[in-house]
Amino acid sequence: MKVKKSKILLISISFLFILKLLTFTIYAQNTMDNDSLKSKLNELQYYVTQQKGTEHPFTGKYWNFFQKGKYVCVCCGTELFESDTKFNSSCGWPSFFGSKFEENIRYQRDTSYGMERTEVLCKKCGAHLGHVFNDGPKPTGIRFCINSASLKFIPLDSINK
Ligand code: FE
Repeated sequence: MKVKKSKILLISISFLFILKLLTFTIYAQNTMDNDSLKSKLNELQYYVTQQKGTEHPFTGKYWNFFQKGKYVCVCCGTELFESDTKFNSSCGWPSFFGSKFEENIRYQRDTSYGMERTEVLCKKCGAHLGHVFNDGPKPTGIRFCINSASLKFIPLDSINK
């Protein structure tokens, strides 16, 4: 009976130790990820993608930019949009009426600032991208309103190389 008790104790201690180690590893990994993101992104990119910020309209790199190519997540490089679905919405942010890479996009209800909106995020890394609205052009009727700071443009020429 005594042996059994000490065995149970030993197993419990081992279990707790492994759990502690695992928690620490996850914590260290997150800190590392956050540090590497901070060094990789500029202040605005970090604010938009990690703190759900919004760049000022008509100030971003891509609101008035219509070259052929695709847009990837500035944080993790996941494909998000392509120039074929980009349109000039005159709202001051890059706008898309759809995405060929729908499987890489995550949606989340956003009730901040007293508004009811749908937030758009990178499915892979969770970066905040912008919002999606139902006032887009045909054929989809939707408008992805995305921050330039959350995107990186890859020109078509360099994709085909
Ligand atoms: Fe990402």
